[in-house]
Amino acid sequence: MKTIIEPFKIKVVEPIKMTTRSQRGDILKQAGYNLFMVTAENIIIDLLTDSGTAAMSDEQWAGIMRGDESYAGARSFRRFYEKVNEITGYQHIIPTHQGRAAERILFGLLAKSGTYIPSNTHFDTTRANIEYSGGVAIDLVIPEGKDPQSLHPFKGNIDIEQLRDFIRKVDPENIPVCMLTVTNNSGGGQPVSMENIRETKDLLSRYNIPLFLDACRFAENAYFIKTREPGYADKTCQEIAREMFSLADGCTMSAKKDALVNIGGFLALNDEELAMKARNVLIVTEGFPTYGGLAGRDLEAITQGLDEVLHEDYLEYRIRTVEYMGEKLDQMGVPYLKPPGGHAIYLDAKTFAPHIPVHHFPGQAIACELYLEGGIRTCEIGSIMFGKIDPDTGEHVAPPLELVRLAFPRRVYTQSHFDYVLEVIAEVFQKRKKLRGYRFVYEAPMLRHFTARFEQI
Ligand SMILES: *Cc1c(COP(=O)(O)O)cnc(C)c1O
Repeated sequence: MKTIIEPFKIKVVEPIKMTTRSQRGDILKQAGYNLFMVTAENIIIDLLTDSGTAAMSDEQWAGIMRGDESYAGARSFRRFYEKVNEITGYQHIIPTHQGRAAERILFGLLAKSGTYIPSNTHFDTTRANIEYSGGVAIDLVIPEGKDPQSLHPFKGNIDIEQLRDFIRKVDPENIPVCMLTVTNNSGGGQPVSMENIRETKDLLSRYNIPLFLDACRFAENAYFIKTREPGYADKTCQEIAREMFSLADGCTMSAKKDALVNIGGFLALNDEELAMKARNVLIVTEGFPTYGGLAGRDLEAITQGLDEVLHEDYLEYRIRTVEYMGEKLDQMGVPYLKPPGGHAIYLDAKTFAPHIPVHHFPGQAIACELYLEGGIRTCEIGSIMFGKIDPDTGEHVAPPLELVRLAFPRRVYTQSHFDYVLEVIAEVFQKRKKLRGYRFVYEAPMLRHFTARFEQI
């Protein structure tokens, strides 16, 4: 088989400023050993997130020029509406400035004190919006989804038995909606199978509970269904996506992921009464229903991005990139969360640097060294992000996994960039026994990972 090449050519370039290891040493020290505090120009390869970091195509940039900025009834909205309707089949489509705005509107209407919202795994902003509205967010992913070594093909699936028990326990009346995150971002970008979406819908229908998809990576999920689930090999990703959406009653979407744009989102649904209420909130907090929180040109870029993201050549290249990284890491013996998901590789820091105790942040030690060694920015997802101090004992309570996420922006880096990342990981892995942990010198009371400062132990 020949190399699966990037199915695009480069028309505009953004130069990367190269730095030396000793310069990066000074930069990192100044930033308090927190990669969120390093300015982007001092990063060589930025794998902090795949959100809002995509490269737009020539047709998307042309769309930016075509944007109709009329306040009401803009041509750009009509085109956006038709595209989202074609892909999802939903009747009511409400543009928002990003995914969490769609979540806030939906849960502001549905979640209140005494309600429960189950999911395979809620993303942070989804959970925060549910809790902010007074509801309780529940994660019911299958057990394989929590095992970093399980090779289950659909580790994002919700556990149907647990969902059934949960509905009976809390009473269906108290469950206004159930969510499925496709792909399961917080679980490592793992897909959900069509069979699982169908079984979830069948179960919920018996209790009249609506199902919504958190559809940020719906196209990547559709490609996994095509390549892994029996019966889907000959369907197009567009047909598969349509089938996924047809099994749900609506979706929230962050266009910063699979719409290949830098800002945007939407809420889409069929329930007319709920849509009316959502539009009323939208007008107060986002904008008029034909633009939401966006400019006409943003709607044009999203419309075109939603078309391009379903091209099979693009999806093959996209998923193959992550798989390629996994194969090379396997050859080097570097531990990571398996199998590789749709948008990122997660290094398993506890196995990578077992000599660093979790309260000295092994993930941070690896992330800092990847920066020092090669100017690569990654994200610790472990004890810094999710660890807590037990108020009674004063002891550190660690989350189940210590991970370092390498998230891949869409269409931004080429194969040689990825090979460079592998070379840097190999260097750091070779000297892993010399890595040292970190301790806080400043810690904010909430979401401490963004602004914390550290010193090396
Ligand atoms: C990014 C993301 C969101 C939130 O979207 P924003 O556009 O960042 O507000 C919600 N759910 C999932 C699964 C995401 O990945």
